[in-house]
Amino acid sequence: MSGEVFGRANDERTPLLRPRQEDRGNDDASNPFNYNATSSAEMAINSTDEDDRVLSQSMDEDNILGLLRRRRSYESQEGGVVSSSSLPGDLPHRPTNEPKTVRTGNLNLLSSKFESLDYDICENSLLIDEERTKGYQFIAKKDLLRWVIMIFIGIFTALIACCIDIAIEEGSGVKFNFLKKQVDQCVEDGCLSIPFLYWILCNLVPVLIGSLLVVYVEPVAAGSGIPQVKCYLNGVKVPRIVRVKTLIVKAIGVTCSVLGGLAVGKEGPMIHSGAVVAAGLSQGKSTTLRKDFKLFTYFREDHEKRDFVSGGAAAGVAAAFGAPVGGVLFSLEEGASFWNQSLTWRIFFCSLISTFTLNVVLSTYHGRPGELTYSGLLNFGKFDNTSYDFIEIPLFILMGILGGLLGALFNHLNFKLTVFRIRNITKRYVKVLEAVLVSAVTATVGMGMILYTNDCKPLGDDPTKYPVQMYCGDGQYSAIGAIWFQTPEGSHKLTSILMFFAFYFFLSCWTYGLSVSSGLFIPSLLTGAAWGRVVGMGMEYMFPDKSWVNPGKYALIGAAAQLGGVVRMTISLTVILIEATGNLTLGLPLMITLLMAKWVGDYFNEGIYDTHIRLMGVPILEWEPPPLSRNIHATEVMSTPVISFSSVENVGRIIDILTNERYNGFPVVDTPMYNDGRTFGKIRGLILRSQLIVMLQHKLYNETAESWSHKGYTLKLFRDAYPRYPTIQQVHVSDEERHFTVDLRPIMNPSPYSVMHSSTLPRIFKLFRGLGLRHVIVVNDNNEVVGIVTRKDLARYRMEKHMGNMRLSELTILD
Ligand code: ATP
Ligand code: MG
Repeated sequence: MSGEVFGRANDERTPLLRPRQEDRGNDDASNPFNYNATSSAEMAINSTDEDDRVLSQSMDEDNILGLLRRRRSYESQEGGVVSSSSLPGDLPHRPTNEPKTVRTGNLNLLSSKFESLDYDICENSLLIDEERTKGYQFIAKKDLLRWVIMIFIGIFTALIACCIDIAIEEGSGVKFNFLKKQVDQCVEDGCLSIPFLYWILCNLVPVLIGSLLVVYVEPVAAGSGIPQVKCYLNGVKVPRIVRVKTLIVKAIGVTCSVLGGLAVGKEGPMIHSGAVVAAGLSQGKSTTLRKDFKLFTYFREDHEKRDFVSGGAAAGVAAAFGAPVGGVLFSLEEGASFWNQSLTWRIFFCSLISTFTLNVVLSTYHGRPGELTYSGLLNFGKFDNTSYDFIEIPLFILMGILGGLLGALFNHLNFKLTVFRIRNITKRYVKVLEAVLVSAVTATVGMGMILYTNDCKPLGDDPTKYPVQMYCGDGQYSAIGAIWFQTPEGSHKLTSILMFFAFYFFLSCWTYGLSVSSGLFIPSLLTGAAWGRVVGMGMEYMFPDKSWVNPGKYALIGAAAQLGGVVRMTISLTVILIEATGNLTLGLPLMITLLMAKWVGDYFNEGIYDTHIRLMGVPILEWEPPPLSRNIHATEVMSTPVISFSSVENVGRIIDILTNERYNGFPVVDTPMYNDGRTFGKIRGLILRSQLIVMLQHKLYNETAESWSHKGYTLKLFRDAYPRYPTIQQVHVSDEERHFTVDLRPIMNPSPYSVMHSSTLPRIFKLFRGLGLRHVIVVNDNNEVVGIVTRKDLARYRMEKHMGNMRLSELTILD
């Protein structure tokens, strides 16, 4: 067979005539992020549960040898176009000890269920005609509209943040006043079990509501949403991630989680909310609301939407932390697959608008309109007179190392827990029960600490809104009660802080990944602030008379170290913390701490978001191609034989291929003069499945192949169908019409990116990463198609770093 001749044969993993398995064009297909039983990674994982199945696809030695054999035969037939240095004998990168089995929690899997976004512009004749007829005015109008949309994204993101914040504030006011009354009364009467039961109830009910919403209404709203936004910006379509329904569930869900006293924050979900707002506003339509406002139709393309989503994510950070620059850097560091100068301006502007709107609304809400003192949801308080001494720098480094170690431990525990969840917590009601259990445990731990620690502070000393007296004397309040009844600020006893740290560390680890909307920033910052404060106490003890010893500063550094150790962000987090504290002096200490935390953490494992992304098998492309991979050539990476179409194609053939194949892109070629099974005709263009479907749906075909009017060919058809195109099964074509012909030329992309068969992996990788491509066609010296490369073909090659060891591994793609 031709597949045996060269390259990686398709029939190894993707049989040419595979029966249809799922509703491919439909966004509602199972979402691998949900940890549902339908998720592909999980299906594979579950099926290997008892006796680990030996995967025929795994890169065992036979496979590698087969692959190399095929490549050799390609070289001999093509006259040795591939350099001899890459002959099989000397392939240092080739993995020889690949695992032969797939266990639950295997991070070396890619799920083929994920589809890519297409950030390349399809420069077909319709687009060129549109631009030509509309002229420069159209370009200027589009540019202006981009700015206007960014303003609205900023405003709406901030308004959502305000609604969540106010709802939480009001809700917790009612809750804590009620509980405080109960506690104060019962301390005298000795009936503490009653307020305890009330407390648990006050926590259980919101958590139950939040978790029911997430589990039964929109599972993709679970967690912070940052990993999903990251995937989206990287170019992977995560179903339902930017829908209005997701946003509503997320907003209500996070309010409930925070009200329920879980160890979660509302900041992470803000980033996701910003992304949804951006995706919705920029498209001028909503699938959830079944409403098309016919606005901004020119922006109904993946690359336009991506730019707005970058802005939305930045606006989310800006609203959450009052950090507009941090927002821009977050988009850049965590997501962006594409960046340019004007986009930076727009994103920064959007972030500033978001911070400003939030400030105006919250200041007014707090009765100080016009004062503009509420720049973000998170408030660290001001660090006005904080300076540091040179001799503290080693201490910051040590704190960074400790943060890295604790972060790595956190990620490891959470990874194990997630694997356990994937295996065992599959039923929906069990997911709800787990959330409720965590909420009850959190309340019990909090109550237990209040009861058994005796940490009293004079009233009016620390700012606490809900002082609980408990067993403290008159005029005093329980410091630990204040910790649990609101955010832990102020100074407390060493034992209280250590206990709080230990419990909060494990509780937040258990909470992340629950089926509730939740953010990880606040719990990590609190845990870090707790041990940072302990360090501060130690410093105060050692250097009692030094002016630069300030426990608040160490709490901040500890918070940064812990969060950096968990999420492994550096520049964006530094700037976010600088902006949130309003203190530039601590910039360098923060950066040093965060870098150390990242380096130390990376030695052991990946950041928590990346771990979750890998666990779900998302074909994400890193920033850089794997090192030492220049001896891997296009011929090894590509798939062949290629399914392609002629410029003027038969309707029946298109339908058959679309029904039997799952591919989303097909080269358009001149029919080869002879078919040797190795080349598939001269390249003429590239056509997407979605374009073919829209053409068939609107019957853009002719009875004869000779006369063409191209009437009815407009870009509007494609824009209206974007982004949820019908499936091929929804297109009805009569038996007679099957013999008609379609002219693909006006619709296809006539200048798709292609590479020579001798191109190296890093070169193809950079093309993909830099331009956000979905398909690259591999051609030979005569410009004839010999193979096709997609994102998954590249994402398979991954550099593993663990405990100082590096190796290139080739991941397995699971159906
Ligand atoms: P995506 O799913 O990322 O949106 P796609 O469906 O076109 O794009 P993949 O799902 O990545 O592509 O394809 C799976 C495998 O099939 C890859 O190894 C890819 O090289 C191969 N492939 C994709 N398109 C074709 C095609 N037209 N002919 C033959 N093989 C293809
Ligand atoms: Mg696909």
